[in-house]
Amino acid sequence: MKSNIITDKKYIILFLIIFIIFGIYIIYLNLNIYNLKENINNKNELYKIQIKNRIKEIDLLNEQLTDLQQILNIGLDLSNNGNIYLNTKINDFDKKYLLKSIPSGSPLKKTFITSEYGYREHPVLKKMKFHTGVDFKAAIGTEVYAPADGIVVKSRKFDPGGYGKMIIISHNFAFKTLFGHLSDVLVNEGDVIKKGSLIGLTGNSGQTSGPHLHYEIRFIEKDIEPINFVYWNNKTFNTIFTKKIKLDWEKLILLIKIRISERKIL
Ligand SMILES: [Zn+2]
Repeated sequence: MKSNIITDKKYIILFLIIFIIFGIYIIYLNLNIYNLKENINNKNELYKIQIKNRIKEIDLLNEQLTDLQQILNIGLDLSNNGNIYLNTKINDFDKKYLLKSIPSGSPLKKTFITSEYGYREHPVLKKMKFHTGVDFKAAIGTEVYAPADGIVVKSRKFDPGGYGKMIIISHNFAFKTLFGHLSDVLVNEGDVIKKGSLIGLTGNSGQTSGPHLHYEIRFIEKDIEPINFVYWNNKTFNTIFTKKIKLDWEKLILLIKIRISERKIL
């Protein structure tokens, strides 16, 4: 009898131990499932944000593509629109839209030009060469800001010479901006950028004779004089249309009109 009771007790203890181990295991499994669920939820949120960003990107690229197509479209009959701009009233709302879509203002807080756009003796090569942008005085590490909304199409974080570490942003209305000789690139290819956002830090990378920012504006892939755009703001809005810039303002203005009327319909 006695030995039986001992055996019973042993079984009960064994059963209790198994029960406790099993219980701990179930708690462990539940915790795992909870963590997994949390993980899935977090990932879902992340994917949602990523998908949203991609859609935004595609929308913007589509818009830019339409701009290019319309600007390049020879079918646009401008013969009756000689003074198209002068007949157009652009209200404050449209001005604001254009100033944030097309590069305007300086990419630096303090603007001091050290080398202008055009032919000059190359500071390193000592030969006459066309300077496709404008150089701004900037100590290494000066913050560079996007001059308009856009998408980063190039963010080079290493220095192969030439422009060195650099960024290219694609904007609406077939404009692009380029920032060369940086010390740090703070954006990635595909990033959707708002006007005024910090994109990089100036430096001395690439082929330079000292620290500065090389700033280029391109219209339909061709470099243009950036300075008029650097000083383009709400107050000087109309003056830019009278400047002799290497671009077809009439087509651009027509496109702007189309865009503005589309926006009004929307
Ligand atoms: Zn330069």
